[in-house]
Amino acid sequence: MLGLMQNQPLLISGLIEFAERHHGDAEIVSRRVEGDLHRYTYKEAASRSRQVANALDQLGLAFGDRVATLAWNGYRHFELYYGVSGSGRVLHTLNPRLHPDQVAWIANHAEDQVLCFDLTFLPLVQAVQGRCTSIKHYIALCAADKLPADSGIPGLQSYDAWIGQQSTEYRWPSFDENTASSLCYTSGTTGNPKAALYSHRSSTLHAYAAALPDVMSISARDAILPVVPMFHVNAWGIPYSAALTGAKLVFPGPALDGKSIYELIESEKVSYAAGVPTVWQMLLGHMKPVGLKFSTLRRTVIGGSACPPAMIQAFNEDYGVEVLHAWGMTEMSPLGTLCTLKNKHDALPPDEKMRIRLKQGRAIYGVDMKIVDAEGAELPWDGKTFGDLHVRGPWVVRSYFKGEGGDPLVDGWFPTGDVGTIDSDGYLQITDRSKDVIKSGGEWISSIDVENIAVAHPAVAMAACIGMPHPKWDERPVVVVVKRPGMDVSKDELLHFYEGRIAKWQVPDDVVFVEAIPLGATGKMLKTRLREMLRDYTLPQT
Ligand code: AMP
Repeated sequence: MLGLMQNQPLLISGLIEFAERHHGDAEIVSRRVEGDLHRYTYKEAASRSRQVANALDQLGLAFGDRVATLAWNGYRHFELYYGVSGSGRVLHTLNPRLHPDQVAWIANHAEDQVLCFDLTFLPLVQAVQGRCTSIKHYIALCAADKLPADSGIPGLQSYDAWIGQQSTEYRWPSFDENTASSLCYTSGTTGNPKAALYSHRSSTLHAYAAALPDVMSISARDAILPVVPMFHVNAWGIPYSAALTGAKLVFPGPALDGKSIYELIESEKVSYAAGVPTVWQMLLGHMKPVGLKFSTLRRTVIGGSACPPAMIQAFNEDYGVEVLHAWGMTEMSPLGTLCTLKNKHDALPPDEKMRIRLKQGRAIYGVDMKIVDAEGAELPWDGKTFGDLHVRGPWVVRSYFKGEGGDPLVDGWFPTGDVGTIDSDGYLQITDRSKDVIKSGGEWISSIDVENIAVAHPAVAMAACIGMPHPKWDERPVVVVVKRPGMDVSKDELLHFYEGRIAKWQVPDDVVFVEAIPLGATGKMLKTRLREMLRDYTLPQT
């Protein structure tokens, strides 16, 4: 028998409508590329989002067309989140840290029609625009008087002028909640980048879940600073969860150094911040030597890479800030687990509490997880046995955009490429990664790209790229090379060979020459054996 409740679709436009009506005076504060602080309210954000929707209609963009951004965290980006998705188009957040070749490839693959970019990224846009064949409209996220006169980009318009001509009246369309809302590429472990295509339903359910007390615990009483970029899995969904709860939003723009972040936290009375370990390393590095303290910050969500114990300890003990360790993936919208303690842990001694806090946490309702062995058999939750982590749920990817890479699921579960244990209380601990990628400062480096460039050098017979632990960046790539018989290449020559072929920060930190790289039965390089071989290796100091 069918239920008798209303079947109202879960749409992203509903979030901003709610925020406008119930939290219309809650603030959104943004540090702009110009360096100043911009402040306005959800009411104004909602109104400008409707102007975005009208502007897209006027461009003649069809339902489902992609609108790309190359932008920092800021209010204009926030308006695009709602105006683009709310009107039925797909917001494609491009990662500006990628090499221009990768950006052009991704924009073409996504068939982006419009590109909206912060002026910081003008040189990048100039480098790619001749190659981005689908993009018809370029919009600079600035006021009319800041529009560069001689950008060389045909038809370039200022965002403020573009939406300024539009009506603030707009009726958000209603459609199937399974309609695509936004698109985010991830480096992928093999071949070309692949994208997760989120839906209105998946994004809204994720926003609900993220706000729960044992998840990110977001409320109208919070002032939230998402340092995690809006181009990286929708800043972990915070722009949606904030609207759903009416929390004040504080956007850091391009200023991600410790001093700027500290000043913003203090001046805007931030109670809650979220980001990858590297940004917190920079923040604490700024505060510690001069003895600075937080006056309002209470909680920080740290994820994207394993959170170092010293960081949890420093936040807790030196600054009275609770660290919530989180694990997730682009393919999971991204939240999977969050580490909050249960009642029964209250009585534990501090070191045992810390042992739990270091884990990646408990699954959120909406995410099923299991660990499996090589044959796919489920392994026990005993906190000791480790296996491949598989997940499923309404905000977990079913297949990649355009079906790239075929069917990624195994018996309906998504294999994460992470390896871990789960204890009897359901706490996940990531112990390793089976996928062949390196994560540096929260961003991926494809080991395959690094290897392919090395073997393109005439003196290189074989190359394997592995991640090595690094105190600031978590991991840095090192390339292990076997030279061709009778040929020679120096470390500096090879590192020089990378210039211009890959983004600067993706160039390996070091080259290690070896006689042979261990191979498995099928001829695959055995990275685990290689890591063992380099157990005593340390990265050069930079
Ligand atoms: P991304 O898709 O860029 O968000 O990266 C997701 C991947 O980052 C995961 O599959 C993990 O390999 C890694 N990751 C994310 N959060 C954590 C964490 N808290 N601890 C360890 N690894 C993490």
